[in-house]
Amino acid sequence: MHHRRAGPLTGTNRKEPSSVMVQAFRKASIMAKKQFKAESKKLLDMMVNSIYTHKEIFLREIISNASDAIDKLHFRSLTDTSIAKEQGPYEIRIIPDKKGRTLTVEDNGCGMTAAELESNLGVIAKSGSLEFKKQLEEKSGDIDVIGQFGVGFYSAFMVADNIKVLSRAYGSEEANLWESEGASGYTVTPATREKAGTTVILHLKEDTEDDRYSDFLEEYQIRNLIRKYSDYIRYPIKMLCSTSRLKEGSEDEYESVLEDKVLNSIVPLWKRPEKDVTEEEYNKFYSEKYYDFEKPLLTIRQKAEGRVEYQSLLFIPSRAPYDYYTKEYEKGLQLYSSGVMIMDKCADLLPDHFSFVKGIVDSPDLSLNISREMLQHDKQLKLIAKNLESKIASKLSDMLTKDRANYEKFYEAFGPQLKFGVYNDYGTHKELLQDLLLFRSSFEDKQTTLKEYVLRMKDGQDQIFYAPGMSDSQIRMLPQVEAAIDKGYEVLYLTHEVDEFALHMLGEYQEKTFCNICSEAPDLLTDEEKEALKKENESAADILTAVKEALADAVADVRFTTSLKGHPACISNEGVISASMERTLNQMPGAEERVKAQLVLEINLNSPVCEKLKALHAEGGEAFADFCRLLYHNARLISGLDIEDPAQFSSLIAKLMAK
Ligand code: ADP
Repeated sequence: MHHRRAGPLTGTNRKEPSSVMVQAFRKASIMAKKQFKAESKKLLDMMVNSIYTHKEIFLREIISNASDAIDKLHFRSLTDTSIAKEQGPYEIRIIPDKKGRTLTVEDNGCGMTAAELESNLGVIAKSGSLEFKKQLEEKSGDIDVIGQFGVGFYSAFMVADNIKVLSRAYGSEEANLWESEGASGYTVTPATREKAGTTVILHLKEDTEDDRYSDFLEEYQIRNLIRKYSDYIRYPIKMLCSTSRLKEGSEDEYESVLEDKVLNSIVPLWKRPEKDVTEEEYNKFYSEKYYDFEKPLLTIRQKAEGRVEYQSLLFIPSRAPYDYYTKEYEKGLQLYSSGVMIMDKCADLLPDHFSFVKGIVDSPDLSLNISREMLQHDKQLKLIAKNLESKIASKLSDMLTKDRANYEKFYEAFGPQLKFGVYNDYGTHKELLQDLLLFRSSFEDKQTTLKEYVLRMKDGQDQIFYAPGMSDSQIRMLPQVEAAIDKGYEVLYLTHEVDEFALHMLGEYQEKTFCNICSEAPDLLTDEEKEALKKENESAADILTAVKEALADAVADVRFTTSLKGHPACISNEGVISASMERTLNQMPGAEERVKAQLVLEINLNSPVCEKLKALHAEGGEAFADFCRLLYHNARLISGLDIEDPAQFSSLIAKLMAK
């Protein structure tokens, strides 16, 4: 009922009242203080009691509202040329007043009518505030969340004990003054303002020991805050700043004068021509935005035109964030539409295998008002995501070939993610990722790509050999690995749990299949050797069966081998599940049915232990079974597996020692 146009005087058949009457009516219509809605009150209390370090964001919020208001008017000016004439150049002005203890933020944007002042500032129901409220409830009043959200206009109550908003909507002759001292309520009264726009006047709270609100009136502090939070606002943020200059007619005397200065960069880094931005600027931008004191390993800029238009500025961090490999980590890029931020972490822009990438995408093709749900299905967004993915992949590939040391550093941090990427989504991304993978290898004990491995393959080798294990040194000692290296073959050392799964998903690389040399004996023997071994196995079938029986269920098969160097025996397996995969799979949460690898005991035909085994078998005494068990335990140990029955193993050894 406080609106001027409401009430008896608005009837169309009435005479226009005299201006004296209008004034009188206006006075009378000023309502008693209005109350904020209950939910707003709670939020206000939170604001007032928030901790100091978060309070500075109020300026960002007020400025971003001003910028939005100019945006709205600018949008209208595209079809209405009179707007530019009336309003002059768009700007946001900051006016600190130390005497009056006020900080004023002024804009020449669209302004608000009385009704808008009421509905916009009288209740907290705006997007940012709602999200904030939700978090507040979830975290049961944890004030730490304040800094993380755009809490809007209300944040000003963190620093001000009185707020006035003088606003005149574009197209209206009248202005209004909204005023509030916080939770007690607010008033809206008629007022005057020369042009359309809004003036927010914050009367700062008294300083206390902990909170120096008067700092917000200091020029350096205001400049810092604007650089920190509002640098890329598209309109100039101006303030009268003191500078010293030579006194007129003097050569060495300076005087301090006030000069109008623009405090923000206006043009975002990602919109400036690439050649004009220095590496330092990128690094500084990155470290301030993503709180990483290490500079990024790679900075990627892209300007796309054509089917979809966008500019992007991406970074690959030098190290994995502490929570990177946990489910707490949230991937995403910041999404802008023509310089206005519309989403802070747009997850749909990044595939999981590149979730470590940070940065910004700015596209005029995306609507400002698009909701999160709709964005997910947005064709343009999908196209952008696809482009970004191949851009990132090609930049990584460049780094791999041109800057190997840095690539290895990158791989150290995020390599496992790429391997998960090969495995995930049923191998959909393997083509994209396979040449970005690195594996440790027996070749000079370095990291290698699959491509490099294939180039080094021996004549006649048609498989890529690998062996899984706990560490390089342990794998190197595996009997099968030792034998393969001895014959001049290169072996990939798979030490990460995802490695084997990734290779299985790859299936083959450049038409070469992968061979776990601890599972399937690689084809390293000559035809004669193979034939001889086959005969041995056949003729000693009874011994092999007896060994298997002595070991009860422990192994699926027992056979002789001539591929080992010195070791008497080793463990290999049949089928795709290796012993290390068995371990990984069974450790996974939710692994109900235990997976079992089909183990094979391979006995070195050329070892003296084999002779002894044969002799004991011929004797037919008790000692044969003990011997088999000891041989099996021994083979497990050297193959990097644990001893299943340490008590049995220990007593077998003790028995042997006492002999
Ligand atoms: P949000 O900006 O998240 O919508 P705020 O509480 O900051 O929430 O602001 C509420 C509303 O008040 C804005 O959406 C806008 O309509 C209006 N408003 C705030 N400041 C201004 C301004 N300077 N000029 C015009 N309208 C404004």
